Amino acid sequence: MTNQFGIYLHVPFCVHKCSYCDFYSFTKYSSGDFAPFVDSLVREARSAAKWLKTQKRLQQPVTSIFIGGGTPSLLPARYLKTLFEVLAQEFPWAPSIEITLEANPETITESLVEEWKAQTPINRISMGAQSFQPEYLKALERLGSAEKITEAAGILKKAGFLNFNLDLIIGIPEQTPEQIKKDIEWAVGLGPTHISNYNLTLKPGHVLFKKLPNDDDSADLYETARLELKAREYEQYEISNYARPGFECSHNLLYWTGGDFLGLGPSAASRFFWDGVFQHRKQLADYAQYLKQEKFESVAWNINSQEQTQLEALFLELRRNSGIDIDRFFKKYGLDLTKSSKLPFLEKAGFLEMQKPTLRLTDKGRLVADTLVCELI
Ligand code: SF4
Repeated sequence: MTNQFGIYLHVPFCVHKCSYCDFYSFTKYSSGDFAPFVDSLVREARSAAKWLKTQKRLQQPVTSIFIGGGTPSLLPARYLKTLFEVLAQEFPWAPSIEITLEANPETITESLVEEWKAQTPINRISMGAQSFQPEYLKALERLGSAEKITEAAGILKKAGFLNFNLDLIIGIPEQTPEQIKKDIEWAVGLGPTHISNYNLTLKPGHVLFKKLPNDDDSADLYETARLELKAREYEQYEISNYARPGFECSHNLLYWTGGDFLGLGPSAASRFFWDGVFQHRKQLADYAQYLKQEKFESVAWNINSQEQTQLEALFLELRRNSGIDIDRFFKKYGLDLTKSSKLPFLEKAGFLEMQKPTLRLTDKGRLVADTLVCELI
């Protein structure tokens, strides 16, 4: 059973730090930082390729590349071009490779997008909209506006980037189901092939933490979004992700199906399924140290136990609406889900459904997916 293989590149620069953001990113940078940063990414990519090919006999082609951040759309196209050239020299690419660039609407201009088209193989854009309503954008401290998001989507489409995602956030304090419907209506009107709909999560102590909706209200908002997107023919394929048929994000599917991924850049994570277990490697979220790093193998690998691997695989694979093929799951991870003592109860209670060989969450189960995984194992 050959795993799919994807590459993630992390670009840590942002114009402004949004209040809810937990990703590793920083705003104190200048254009003079781009060249040394790209040099480091190139060094890491070449070193990783050498190590993976010699030590781990890595042969499978790359099926997806995702450049995330941070705000990767801040990197001028010539640097992206260099990165793709290096990745193409170091790794074989599958003919149908999906290549996604994350972009913030306020960074998108006609000339920039034309450069992406002319100089890079990017074939998918993922844009952070979050909301189209000024009060919520303000609460999240987003720089964008409904007008800017709309303009950016128009620029993408005009340049031929028809395959694009919009991220939306639900559960913003005081957000109502009606307002979620309005956001979805606006988003759908821009013609994305994919919409992600994530719940706002904040750390205790954040100024908005105590204003977050309770569990019942969150479930209402989630259901409103799900039904609204369904009515507009965006098919849910994962707890928080919806797509027009055929436009599911390959890179995210790779995460949820236990695929292998190489993460490059500060704070990027890698995961490979080797010797029957997941092995993880996580870069330190330390930009200065990252620039000095010479060798890919200088960051240690964390080897999961079989139990940890099974838990992680179940947690991820059950998220997909298509569910888990229990025979395949047993062959790959050594866990026979039919032997779970809680399975009959969870089925009867309407959280899970089994149509052999597939086990999947029901709509009710999707609301409490993480709890169910702990019950099942
Ligand atoms: S633009 Fe994205 S990565 Fe940057 S701070 Fe805002 S949410 Fe975080």
